[in-house]
Amino acid sequence: VVTAAPSAQLRLLDLQAIDTSLAQLAHKRAHLPELATIASSGERMEELHGQTVELDTDLSDLLSEQRRLENDIDVVRSREERDQQRLAAGGLPGKELEGLQHELESLARRQASLEDSALEVMEQREQLETRLAQLATERSQAGAELAAAAAARDTAWGAIDAETTELTAKRAAASADVEAELLALYEKVRAAQGGIGAAMLRHRRCEGCRLELAGSELGAVRQAAPDDVVRCENCRRILVRTPESGL
Ligand SMILES: [Zn+2]
Repeated sequence: VVTAAPSAQLRLLDLQAIDTSLAQLAHKRAHLPELATIASSGERMEELHGQTVELDTDLSDLLSEQRRLENDIDVVRSREERDQQRLAAGGLPGKELEGLQHELESLARRQASLEDSALEVMEQREQLETRLAQLATERSQAGAELAAAAAARDTAWGAIDAETTELTAKRAAASADVEAELLALYEKVRAAQGGIGAAMLRHRRCEGCRLELAGSELGAVRQAAPDDVVRCENCRRILVRTPESGL
């Protein structure tokens, strides 16, 4: 049986209160709503980046297509000009003249078709550029949201860390008076019992598991010496006796 001065046993309640606050702070630090915002904005930005990369590729393909069409249009146009010059120069034999006229008709059809395609490409390009501009706006919005959430997180973390530092110093002071053996027992039980190692016995009830002591257990606690460290039979937590214990 571990024994410790009643004053040291009482210190465990201070220590427990500090440890509970520290655990709450750690939980709060890990579950700030800003962290969810940061995660979702980050995901959104990645998604938007992916879409932008994809559309940039499409745009660059379209630009190549546009250049190719413009080049073809130039080739057809210069050929038409050359044929027109030959026609204007006159003096061509009948068969050649007919051939030239056929070619000019076919060049005109080709030109019209190329121009239709060029127009279509230009429209697609405009649509892509509009969508890319929208994506850029959405990305900067998500970026601003992310930055704001990160700043809010840092502010919250700063406050939590300051409080944690303060409580850690208080904890060191509170545990200074507690014997190593009792402290070790408290830590062991605390680790095994969801963060609560010591509980007050109040009105015969264990404040750790809320069970009321009765019968032989109550008798044993009543008979225990003040220096005996008593534990709850139900939850095994250290039961700290105070004038409110109702013994
Ligand atoms: Zn209990």
